[in-house]
Formats: sequence, structure tokens, C-alpha cells
Amino acid sequence: MKLNETQEQMINRCSRCGSCQAHCPLYLATGVEPLVARGKVELLEHLIEGRLEWNDKLAEVFSTCLLCGNCGDNCPNQVRVDHLVREARRDLVAARGLPVIKRTVFQQLLKNDGRLSAAARLVCFYQRSGIQRLVRAGKVLNLLPGGLTVKESLLPRLAAGEFRKLVPRVNRGKKSTLRVAYFTGCMTNYVFHRTGRSVLNLLTGNGVEVTIPEQGCCGLPALAAGDYDTAGELARRNIAGFTQSEPDYIVVDCASCLGTLLEYPRLFDDGGTFARAEEKVMDISRFLVEVLDIKLPPATKDAGIVTYHDPCHLKRTPGGKEYPRALLKMVSGPRFVELPADAGRCCGSAGSFNLEHYRLSREVVKPKIRALEVMQPDIIATGCPACMLHLEHAIKDASLPARVVHTVELLNILT
Ligand code: SF4
Ligand code: SF4
Repeated sequence: MKLNETQEQMINRCSRCGSCQAHCPLYLATGVEPLVARGKVELLEHLIEGRLEWNDKLAEVFSTCLLCGNCGDNCPNQVRVDHLVREARRDLVAARGLPVIKRTVFQQLLKNDGRLSAAARLVCFYQRSGIQRLVRAGKVLNLLPGGLTVKESLLPRLAAGEFRKLVPRVNRGKKSTLRVAYFTGCMTNYVFHRTGRSVLNLLTGNGVEVTIPEQGCCGLPALAAGDYDTAGELARRNIAGFTQSEPDYIVVDCASCLGTLLEYPRLFDDGGTFARAEEKVMDISRFLVEVLDIKLPPATKDAGIVTYHDPCHLKRTPGGKEYPRALLKMVSGPRFVELPADAGRCCGSAGSFNLEHYRLSREVVKPKIRALEVMQPDIIATGCPACMLHLEHAIKDASLPARVVHTVELLNILT
């Protein structure tokens, strides 16, 4: 395995202090050393020096990382193991290729909007025609290998139609002075239309013209799996669509997509277009607070106790921790309550991690669920649709009555 100079320096900076153990949700859930940053650095050294070669066990260890970055945020030597794990996955793909299911999903579906739409329509028909009810009642999937019953239960209920096709391409606000391009991400497009409508209402209602340019998947699923070629192709297509509309800002409602768009310039060399676009990319909460300086009136309705889950990819962007809270406090006042610090880590969703490592993802979310059981909030707000889905499943399993919403959705409902 070969790493570039910066990555090798990062590995050399690891002093084996073990501080990462206290911050890695997987280590805290399992106590297994190869799953924590220090253990992974050690294995990477062996791979680089040729003392180890890729095998199934090693592939499993490197697939078992949430890429949450919590270790890097708390590492005294700034070792970003999340970045190194992704490089290791890239090397693994080069050495052994992608598993057939991932290859089909990334290269046949994500890269092809027509096929992705057709697949979404099929899933929607399956869920709404009664077939899903019959399959579940008959426990048909139990007869098949691969843990399909659990995986099927994690399938989000798709909305009817695609958000991007249901709303106008250009949405003018009253006396629009700012032009924003909206990156909806796949989850808002196919699952959470209510988030998309809230974004449009808030922006157009505050004098912003919102364009929804040609776009596709941000590339995160492919990137996280080490398929940089697919991710790079998606990145180039997205940036071409967004720069064409010449917006003042590019607003994103999904923390995972935001993190990926902000990484485009570092990951893919394209002569500077990504870097110029990056300056305009921001999360919807940041845009509302920093650019619009929005002042929301206290809510006329009482939503009850409101708490907030920090998505990993949002909290380390500028204002990513403060701005959603500022907005929630504007409308909820003293009814906004913080989760305790140890319940504030990654929820365990991590893209498709919860599909590949279902049991572990449930262990990771347990501290949060325990804190929610004590707090008994009515609303859990967050800024990432993937976290929303994972939390919805976890609180349902724990029989908690709370509702999980996107931050902008709550603002839209309450004001
Ligand atoms: S990754 Fe950072 S925190 Fe973990 S052992 Fe190395 S230097 Fe210490
Ligand atoms: S990125 Fe997250 S899951 Fe992976 S080693 Fe670091 S803290 Fe653990």
C-alpha cells in the first residue's frame, strides 16, 4: 500500500498515546484495539511496509470505522484516521475490486440519474402496493441469506415522486436580492420532501431566490467505500451544474453531503473549479444565521422539549455546532435542552455502516438512547437526513415517543 507524503507524515505523528480510545464510539462499544485509531495506524504501517497484505480479516477491520472523525478531533497530534481509513479502502478496492452489490449500486445507479429514479420508483411501488406488507407478514426474507430482513427493515419509506421534479427549478422570493443554488442531496429528493419544502419556504420567505440546478448524488457512498473514480465523476458533474447557475451561495441541507462537497477540492484535482465553488458552499443553518442574520420570532405553538443531535460532518464546519442551536433557541427558548456530552457522539448511522454492521451501529447509539430516555424530549432536531433515519429506528426500538425532525423543518413548523 502507498500513501502520499502528507498521509505518511500523519502516520508518523501517532505517538501511540491511546487518547483516541476515550473518543472512538466503536472502541467504547467493543473495547477492541484494531477498531480504534491507534490500532488502525499500526495496521496501516504493516500494510505500507509490506508486512501485511489485504485479506478478509483486514478488510473487515477497515470496513469497521464510522469515519466519524471523533478520534482526529481529539488527537493531540492531529492524526486524521478517518482520512487514512478511506485511503486504505481505496487501496483495498484497487487490490481486490468492489463487492458486486456496491459496484452495481455505485457505478450503475448513482452515476445514472435515470436508473436511480427507476430504482426509486420500484421501491416506492413495493412499499405502497401492499407487497412490502405481505413480504413482512410472510417473513419471506428470513428464507434468504445476507440478513435481508434487517436490511429491508432499514429501508426508508420513499416519498411519492422526486422533490426536484415536484418543485419549480427557480423559486423567487419577495424582493430577492440573493441567489442561492440548493443542493438537495438524495435523501431530500427521495425521502424527506418536508425538509426540502421547509428550506424553500424559509429562503423564499426571507427574500432569497432559490435555484435547483442539475445535480446527482454527492458521491459520499462511493467515496466511503473507496471507489474514488465514481465519487470523482459525480463531483465533477455536480460542480458543473452548480457553477453554471452562478449563485451567490450553494446551500446544503444534509451534513453528509456538505462534508463531501467541502472535500471535493482536497480529493479531486480539477484545476481550481472545486476550490472556487467551495467558498460558496454552506449548510442551511449557517446561511440563515451568518448571511441572512435571520431573526425568528418565538414559536406561537409549544413543541415541548426540544433537543439536538450533532451530525459528525456538520459539527466541524464553521458554525456547524453553534448555528443550529442558535436557531432552535430562537424558536424554543428555555424548552431547548442539551444532551449530555457523552451522548453527543456519532449516532452510528455513518452512511451504510448501519447496513453492514447493524449490531454494532445499535451499540453505538445506546448512550444517546439512554440519555433520551432520561430527558424524554418531544423533538429531536438534527441537520442530517441519514442521522434522522437512524435515530427514528433507534427511538422506535426503545419505544420513545419523540419525533425526529430536520432543524429547518422545526423552524418552518413553529414560525
Ligand atoms: S491516533 Fe492520536 S490519539 Fe490515537 S494514539 Fe495516535 S496520537 Fe494518540
Ligand atoms: S473515525 Fe470514528 S469510528 Fe473510526 S477510528 Fe476514529 S473515532 Fe473510531
